[in-house]
Order: sequence, then structure tokens, then C-alpha cells
Amino acid sequence: MAGVIALVVAAGRGSRVGGDRPKQYVPLAGTPLLRHTLARLAAHPAIDAVQPVIHPDDRATFDAVADGLDVLAPVDGGASRQDSVHRGLEALAGHNPEAVLIHDGARPFPGNELIDRVLAALTDHAGVVPALPVSDTLKRADGRRIAETVPRGDLWHAQTPQGFRYPAILAAHRGADGSPASDDAALAERAGCALAVVDGSTENVKVTTRDDIARVERWLAGGAETRTGTGFDVHAFGDAAGPVRLCGVDIPSERGLAGHSDADVGLHVLVDALLGAIGAGDIGEHFPPSEDRWKGADSAAFVAHALGLLEQRGAAIVNVDITLLCERPKVGPHRAAMRERVAELLDLAEERVSVKASTTERLGFLGRGEGIAAQAVASLRLPGS
Ligand code: MG
Repeated sequence: MAGVIALVVAAGRGSRVGGDRPKQYVPLAGTPLLRHTLARLAAHPAIDAVQPVIHPDDRATFDAVADGLDVLAPVDGGASRQDSVHRGLEALAGHNPEAVLIHDGARPFPGNELIDRVLAALTDHAGVVPALPVSDTLKRADGRRIAETVPRGDLWHAQTPQGFRYPAILAAHRGADGSPASDDAALAERAGCALAVVDGSTENVKVTTRDDIARVERWLAGGAETRTGTGFDVHAFGDAAGPVRLCGVDIPSERGLAGHSDADVGLHVLVDALLGAIGAGDIGEHFPPSEDRWKGADSAAFVAHALGLLEQRGAAIVNVDITLLCERPKVGPHRAAMRERVAELLDLAEERVSVKASTTERLGFLGRGEGIAAQAVASLRLPGS
């Protein structure tokens, strides 16, 4: 389906978990809750744009939390969730998307497969609600006195993202009579839309209380796995004069390196190691050397792309270790600058970054000074599944 925008509702003031901060800005495993949510939606290949709806008082906090993420400028929400969604939908009129996914900012793990299920069902329905079947026995009580057992066979726990054809949900919000609806599907039901239910996900939890934070963090830590990726690359010296760029730093050299982009062999192996650790192919697949637009490109852009893929998987870099192999130029004196630059590109503490230099004792093509080789190892920590 073309033209899908995710509308993320994060305008609430609820601070049950965060002390003075609304809960969507509270750190979850070191990253603000809302950033987890936005990053996953922004990275989904079928989602064309992410539209956050926030409280106007939170603008500065939001800007810090969403720094570097590919999301639209936030829209100010209203007094209620329903009002906030309505404002967000109206703000999308200029985009006129085919479909919107309306998602709670406090659900940090909308999995890719869950989103795929919602979008797939949207081709046949005006609206789609992901939900989990109710498995506990349900009681209706009069105070503390049980009145009856409620049949649960056809009952579901509704989640988000709820998917809608954009014109249908916009019309439902515009036509709402003012009586509160607990979710967007409720408004669409009242407007007469035919809605479908698809399987939700147990990981797609709504983080509401301090207990929820602690439980999700235990879950993330308990199931965490460590991944390792490696990279290897060689670039030959070309006819052009130096400098050579290695690990993002220009180093004086008689001759420059030939090849893909700015020929930064150090960053190329770093990207391959990061991609390798999440099984996401290699640098050539993501940035084909045959495409002219990568000619001379700053390889820092490839690193940023790899980081986006890591963020989509919730992966954190544990450490990276890069070795550069050549006789000349002498790279040793530039190691500190290269390490600093790589740490900056990865937004990582320098003690988690290593850049080393070695030679092949004048043996082989490297020994003859025909090019520069590099290898890298990256270790990542991924949340459990
Ligand atoms: Mg290369």
C-alpha cells in the first residue's frame, strides 16, 4: 500500500512513572520510551512518514528525544487523546496519505510483523485493529461481590497501531459527536466503518506504570543476545593525488585511494561489520558502487544508514575494533583522531572504539604499497525476541 503515515500520539501528561516527566519521555533501557517507538516506526520500510503529536510544553524535550530520527515536525495535541489524534489527522491533509497507522507513543515495540499484518488487512478493510484474545476468565462484579462470569470467546484486548484508510478515519473524527471514544476504532465503528481484527503481539506492551518499565527492562535484559559481525575491504591507490580518508580523517598521502564513494576503507569495514552483526547484507547491497550518486560520497552517510538499521532492531553497539593495514602513509600518528571520529559517528564512548594500524612486513600487495586494507569487528547487544 502506498502512502502510509504513522501518527504517534504522545501528547499526554501522565507522569505516573516519570516523576516530573510525562511517561513517554522516561528512559527505558537507557533510551527515552518515545524514541524507541518513533525509531521503530520510522525504520519500517512500508511507512513513508512518521507524524508525532505532542504537548506544546514538551517541544524542547521532544526535539532532544527525536534528534536525528527521520520524523515530521511535531503537531500540537489537544486536551484529550481523541482531540490530539484529530489534530494530527488534520495536519496530514496536505500529505493526503492513503492510510494512517495511529499508534500510542507509550507502546515502544510495534514489531515489523505486527505492522505488516495491519497493513495487509487494510487492503480489504477500512480499518484494522491488532488485538490479543482475552485468555483470563472474566467476572463482572458489583463492588467486590461477583455478579456473573462473562463469556470471553469473542472478546479481544485492542492494541495499536490501528490502521485506517485516511479519508475514513478523518471523516469519523470530524463527524464525532463529542462523546468520548476510548480508541480510534470506536469512532470508526460509530461512523459505520467495517473493521477487522488481526493478531496483536505480546511484545507490543503499553508502558503505563513504573512496574511496566521495570518489567520491560528485565525482559529486554534477560533475553538480550550478543551479536558479532566482521568486515574486510581493500582499496587500491589510484592516479589522483592524496590525501586518503581513513575512518573519517584526511591523512596526507602522495596518492589517493580509488574506489567506491570517498574510498574510506576504514569506515567501509566498520559498516560491513555492523551490517554483518544483524544479518543485513553488506555495504555494496545498500549502496551499489554502480550508482553514480555514491561517487565521492562521504562514507559517514553509510555509517548513519547502518545505525538506522541497528536502531530499528533495538541493537546497541558494545564495541568496535578496526585494523588498518598498509606500509604508507603512516597512519599511527592519526589513530587518536580516527578513534575520536568513529566514536563521534557512532555516538559511542571512545573506550568502546579501537582503531589500530599494522603492516604486512613489506610482503604482498600491501607490502608493495599498492593499496590499503582494513578489517573490523563489531559486537552488538540485541533485545531478546
Ligand atoms: Mg570499500
